[in-house]
Amino acid sequence: MAQKLFNQPKKRSIKPKLIFLSLLFIVAALITGSSMFFSTSEPSLPQPHVFSSDRANHFVGFKATNDSDNNRVLAFKFANLDNEKVQVHNNDGKLMLTITDTYHTEDFSEKTHLSDVVTVNQNASNTIQFALPLERLGPYNTRISEDGIFITKLNWGLEGKNIVIDPGHGQPDGGAIGPSGLLEKDVVLNISLRLKEILEDKGANVLLTREGDSRPYPSSYLQDLWERVYIAEEFGAHVVLSIHNNASDYPYVGGIETFYRPNTLQGHNNKKFAKTIQNQLTNDLGRRDRGVHSANFNVLRSEEFIGALVELMFITNPEEERLLSDPQMIEKIAQSLAEGIENFFTN
Ligand SMILES: [Zn+2]
Repeated sequence: MAQKLFNQPKKRSIKPKLIFLSLLFIVAALITGSSMFFSTSEPSLPQPHVFSSDRANHFVGFKATNDSDNNRVLAFKFANLDNEKVQVHNNDGKLMLTITDTYHTEDFSEKTHLSDVVTVNQNASNTIQFALPLERLGPYNTRISEDGIFITKLNWGLEGKNIVIDPGHGQPDGGAIGPSGLLEKDVVLNISLRLKEILEDKGANVLLTREGDSRPYPSSYLQDLWERVYIAEEFGAHVVLSIHNNASDYPYVGGIETFYRPNTLQGHNNKKFAKTIQNQLTNDLGRRDRGVHSANFNVLRSEEFIGALVELMFITNPEEERLLSDPQMIEKIAQSLAEGIENFFTN
């Protein structure tokens, strides 16, 4: 049948015309830029993410990965995130991250199997909220950058942890002075040097903000405190413990108290860390328990690491001054602090 049709003269004469007309049409389409035939090969129109990346607080998505130390990292990715649009508070056992003036194109809640860990609500006023259950999260570190909010759930134990021990004061600042002349700067350095050895034996990476007599930034008291925070952040500190001795005008005042910063991304962690340290010390040393308190010390002013500041006895109390000058007590304090830090990562 095909051969017979092929031999018909009429059909053979039409074919070249059709080919010619088709070619003409194709050339015309190319010249005019018509999309009738070439919609797939044309450069695609700008996608929403191309122009919206210029917008502030554009929510790109959520991803859970592991870092090089095998800690779980929850990444809330943004383009051009403005830190000041991120608000943090604890509510009903949850860490709530609220980001205002956001822009996003995807329905986040359908994107991840971790929706039991992370949930998102977006309301009419372009606010996104993430809620993370604190108890399940355990100790964590945070980082906020232009690229988003990164929360690292820390593994159990001291192995591989970056711990910064901050011995308070240092020349030219001796800190508080005991009735027989004992200087706070010397006591806290002795404790810190021993604590470093114990923690390193347990597998932690430990950095002291000073190992010598002088403070990290000798020429300025305020700059010195920022310098200590900078040292800790550069080290990638998971936790920072600042060590001090207390002082009072009244020689009979004594005991131990621990401070933490409450209103940060780390607020929940900070409080838990301070409580763990305080409980361990008062159990081991038998000194008066003066409790755990919130305070906004500059040396702990970071959103990145978990921190506490411990006031280890009153150097102005003659009995406690004597204890603080006893090498056996220094050893006992260092062991107790190491156990407290370890407890924080294992309970
Ligand atoms: Zn001090």
